[in-house]
Amino acid sequence: MASKAKSRWADDEQDAELEAQRRKEKEEKKRLKAEKAKKLEAEKQAREAAEAAATTRRHPSPSPPETNSGHPAKRRKLSPERGTTTTQTQSSTTIANGTGEKTHKLLRFDGGAFRKARSVENYDKLNDIEEGSYGWVSRARDISTGEVVALKRLKLNPKDRGGVPVTGLREIQVLKACDHRNIVHLKEIVVNDDTSRLESIFLVMEFLEHDLKSILEDMPNPFLQSEIKTLLLQLAAGTAYLHENWILHRDLKTSNLLLNNRGQLKIADFGMARFVGDPPPQKLTQLVVTLWYRSPELLLGTPTYNTAVDTWSIGCIFGELLTREPLLQGKNEVDQLTKIFELCGIPTEETWPGFRRLPNAKGLRLPQNSTTTNSLVRARFPTLPSAGAALLNSLLALDPEKRPSAKQILAHEYFKQDPKPKQEAFFPTYPSKAGQERRRKRETPNAPLRGEKAVDLGHVDFSGIFAGREKEERGAGFALRMV
Ligand code: ADP
Repeated sequence: MASKAKSRWADDEQDAELEAQRRKEKEEKKRLKAEKAKKLEAEKQAREAAEAAATTRRHPSPSPPETNSGHPAKRRKLSPERGTTTTQTQSSTTIANGTGEKTHKLLRFDGGAFRKARSVENYDKLNDIEEGSYGWVSRARDISTGEVVALKRLKLNPKDRGGVPVTGLREIQVLKACDHRNIVHLKEIVVNDDTSRLESIFLVMEFLEHDLKSILEDMPNPFLQSEIKTLLLQLAAGTAYLHENWILHRDLKTSNLLLNNRGQLKIADFGMARFVGDPPPQKLTQLVVTLWYRSPELLLGTPTYNTAVDTWSIGCIFGELLTREPLLQGKNEVDQLTKIFELCGIPTEETWPGFRRLPNAKGLRLPQNSTTTNSLVRARFPTLPSAGAALLNSLLALDPEKRPSAKQILAHEYFKQDPKPKQEAFFPTYPSKAGQERRRKRETPNAPLRGEKAVDLGHVDFSGIFAGREKEERGAGFALRMV
């Protein structure tokens, strides 16, 4: 799965050591500063006393009144005057630790130079594209260059006290760090000149004519195998890049995959994305990924997860490319898990060791019948070549450890077999909805909103779900009971 190199963002022992060292140095600096100030103050007092003595000698006067405490009436300022501090900017890359030893090199966080963001007035809005969960997206033209771009206006959330929403900050942080042909390119951030107005931050991105969801909804015939291979390879390449750079996307789905008229696919919408280390943090938000693309470990409430949540979503997208329909369309979390178990089989200690320890799996009542544990992926896609079915089956493995990494997907046998992946340049073109009128509001679920509560699936009874499976292949409708 993830490679074992250390992450820049990982909070490990070395980081803790460096932090302690930094604190010690800061305290030492503070102490030296206070000592110096005391010394200066003493010198100043001595000077003043000498002057006063001289004045008294010249103009004798009655002694000034003493306070009850014996201190002068007005407290002296003990802090040094401006410009008297000896603190110097640490410009060297090695830091002396006070004992003369050289310590670890401290990495500087490159915050970049501050530059005033340009105004959104530099762009002419052409048309709305779509309102998403976290922003409004429109097509616009750069007035000076004539280039057509996508402008995403960040929605502000009262929970973020009128500031930039965390999702927006994450999206900016991640997109600024990315540079890959299968990741949408963030050109700049622009603002409204009138900053007193809300909704004043915009992401300027390269414009792509389509998203995969719109194409799938409108295309009269399904994609060819060669086209599916090209799309999947690009999705896996973009995802592998993210994972190599310690980024989880956490909302891969067809509406977040953009396609241009040159057959190039790019991953977009990084509002749910985040940087992680190796091992990933012990506690990550469970409520991530749009329901239909959410992995079983997330649904079962795992507090820690990894890149496999994205590979599960890739499996769901693969199924959707084949049928033009989302693969697992649950009405809610319980129904989603039911649909997963119907297709991929009920988990057992053999197929998914340790799954019972997941918070929502402890009270689950699962059928004991052995026929319910097989995956039906192969049966569901009878015309898919066996290498393709094997890939889809592995992407939809219940056990996250058994799913291939994005890099392994790239090397899969399925892509080597005929028909070979179609060259991007030969990809068909489609009429662009984004380039014309506003897209219709979709009836599909969105990514979870921040602050939403995960459903507790602690006591769901799945025991009857495969009743009659022997008679009529798994997949018949059934109802779940909460117990
Ligand atoms: P949200 O985070 O609010 O869900 P998205 O980033 O997912 O917003 O964008 C919503 C929709 O806007 C996408 O499904 C896509 O149709 C369109 N879109 C987003 N970015 C672009 C872009 N760079 N070029 C063209 N269309 C885009």
